Formats: sequence, structure tokens, C-alpha cells
Amino acid sequence: MSAEKSIFTKIMDGDIPAQKVYEDEDCICIKDISPQAPTHLLIIPRKPIPRLVDATIEDKALLGHLLLKVGDLARLSGVDEAFRVVINNGEGAGQTVFHLHLHLLGNKAFDEGSL
Ligand code: 5GP
Repeated sequence: MSAEKSIFTKIMDGDIPAQKVYEDEDCICIKDISPQAPTHLLIIPRKPIPRLVDATIEDKALLGHLLLKVGDLARLSGVDEAFRVVINNGEGAGQTVFHLHLHLLGNKAFDEGSL
């Protein structure tokens, strides 16, 4: 069985280029190709979990790792005093790439009370 590779797996495999900011054995971090904030990074597990709801208890440590990396990368990018983490789950929520990823958005004036 060979499922179609997601665009993020293709990036990890070097099939298509991306601006890589960080990588380790469990995840990579790249700059978003179409940034919605001055700092817009994507933190992506190597494991191709399609959506957050597809994660299981087996992924507990991985999910923790991703969140800790968001903090490290926010510090590294100098946005750790004000940033936002977004996970879109499902088409209805705006998910376009079905390989779990966390958006790290920083250096932006966030409206009070907005999502
Ligand atoms: P989603 O809408 O699924 O939450 O987020 C997918 C994100 O991936 C979007 O912000 C989009 O700009 C970004 N993206 C899509 N294709 C590529 C690509 O080939 N390279 C990079 N660096 N980002 C991509």
C-alpha cells in the first residue's frame, strides 16, 4: 500500500524545496510559503498524521514535542512575548494540507478577542 505523499512529506524527502528553519528526528520547521504574519512558521511532525483528530495516545509524546518546539522556535525568532499557535482541523476549518502541522504566527498586531 503506498499512499500519496503529502506536500510536507515531499519537502522532508527533499523532493520539493522549502526554507527549513529547524529539524530533528521527529519534526521539521519551515517558513510558510504564503505568510499570514511577519513570522509564520510551520512545525510539522515527520509522521504523516492527517489531522489532529487522527492522532492517538501513541502520539502523546510527539504532540508534546511539537508544542515544546513551538516555544523554542518562538524564542529563536524573537516572538516569544506575543505569538499565536493555530491548528486547522478539517476542510471546514480551513485545513488545506492533510498532514498535521502547527502554524506559529508572530510579529503581528493581534486584535483583542479575535481568534
Ligand atoms: P492549512 O491551511 O492546511 O492549515 O495550512 C497549510 C499551510 O501550508 C498554508 O499556510 C500554506 O501557505 C502552506 N503551504 C502549502 N504548500 C506549501 C509549500 O509547498 N511550501 C511551504 N513552505 N508552505 C506551503
